[in-house]
Amino acid sequence: MTYDQLCSYFVEIGEKKFRAGQVFKKMYQGASDFNEITELSAKLREKLSATASLTSVEMLRKQESATDGTRKYLFSVAGGYAIESVFMKYKYGNTACISSQAGCRMGCAFCASGMDGLQRDLTAGEIVDQVVAMERDTGERIGHIVVMGTGEPFDNYDELIRALQLFHDERGLNIGLRNITVSTCGLLPKIKQFAQDMPQVNLAVSLHAADDETRRKIMPVARAYEMKELLAVCREYTSATRRRITFEYSLISGENDSLEAAALLASKLKGMLCHVNLIPLNHVEEKSYRGSARRHAEDFAAVLSSKGIEVTIRRELGSDISAACGQLRLSEKQNRNA
Ligand code: SF4
Repeated sequence: MTYDQLCSYFVEIGEKKFRAGQVFKKMYQGASDFNEITELSAKLREKLSATASLTSVEMLRKQESATDGTRKYLFSVAGGYAIESVFMKYKYGNTACISSQAGCRMGCAFCASGMDGLQRDLTAGEIVDQVVAMERDTGERIGHIVVMGTGEPFDNYDELIRALQLFHDERGLNIGLRNITVSTCGLLPKIKQFAQDMPQVNLAVSLHAADDETRRKIMPVARAYEMKELLAVCREYTSATRRRITFEYSLISGENDSLEAAALLASKLKGMLCHVNLIPLNHVEEKSYRGSARRHAEDFAAVLSSKGIEVTIRRELGSDISAACGQLRLSEKQNRNA
């Protein structure tokens, strides 16, 4: 619930509105049980416990990197679905990578998260609670969020927007909108709407190819929207919001990583307020794709850079644990089937 919805809830159950503020504050400080909110009378705590819950995700498994502090979580949500979230330590602060759906229906060929299709959309509460649960577990504050885990966030647009409002609420987590990034595989109408609704939130677009043919092969969404249209909407986005777009590009050996592809990509992005984030693809056993070698990624980056495109190669965090999207969920499923 948003703060206003929580106020209405307290009025509906015959309680004073200010109680909503006490509960809202404590739940974002990590309270998982109404009995931890000692400002409330024992009677009210009992009443709330009988009708409501402070949490909506439950930790099933956790893996912790011995080298860089990355923690990967498998949470369960109502209906018995499992979702993944990752806690990462960066120089600029702790960052949470969270899921927006259980499963995904976008069917990208290299992705483990979407292998079983979409199970269901997450509620705003389930999206937000991943961050609260990770803060509770680590005992550390999370200042940055990337909605880049399982699911296509724009395929669950309304709950996503409500979650972003909740992240930003100064009475709760109070995370700056500029510290939040939402990643889409390129649902054009929603990119346009997002520019209107959340112009301060960072946008990342998964491109993963420099031409339509390659993109269609690895990303079914490219059959609905041509790259030309996608890049035109991205240009509109940057001029409307004056925000830089990040293009995510997973380097897949022999598929999209030739130096000609790098040159083509540079020509298509020329003059755009953007940044390319090259991602060394993690190997997923069930998929035949292999990530490009680090040296090759550097050559690809050098081509982009020589043509004036800002580029970085994503640092691999948690490489000693199953840190790539969908891998923890997949291994849990395999354990269950074994
Ligand atoms: S890469 Fe993202 S959009 Fe594509 S199937 Fe995986 S979760 Fe869905």
